[in-house]
Amino acid sequence: MAAYTKPLPAISTLNQRYWEGLKQRRMVLPYCEACDSVWYPPTPFCPDCWSRDFRWQAVSGRGVVNSWVVFHQAYFSSFKDDIPYSVAEVELEEGPRLLTNLVEVANEDIAIGMPVEVVFDDVTDEVTLAKFRPRKG
Ligand SMILES: [Zn+2]
Repeated sequence: MAAYTKPLPAISTLNQRYWEGLKQRRMVLPYCEACDSVWYPPTPFCPDCWSRDFRWQAVSGRGVVNSWVVFHQAYFSSFKDDIPYSVAEVELEEGPRLLTNLVEVANEDIAIGMPVEVVFDDVTDEVTLAKFRPRKG
């Protein structure tokens, strides 16, 4: 397998649980014990009520496409073989929105509101990325 040359996330004590979850085929996010908020990306306190009392909990991995773009230019040379490729904002059922790539769908078939589900892409031995594909049924 060719070496993975695209940018990788900076894994820190703050977001380590998220990345470990993806490696284990689960998407886990911080849930606020004080106000029940769930959010992404991980921060050391709840963005809604500033409580530092939160737990990590699995989310459904289901959501909808909220917005997307198709890149026709490789701003990183490591993406040049992928163009044109999509970058989407997916809104999870639990509320958080995250930027991701859509897979298993042609760029011309992407639509706002399209139901999607997470898939796990092991890009290196240490890093698994969350991508999304159209949900069936
Ligand atoms: Zn809160």
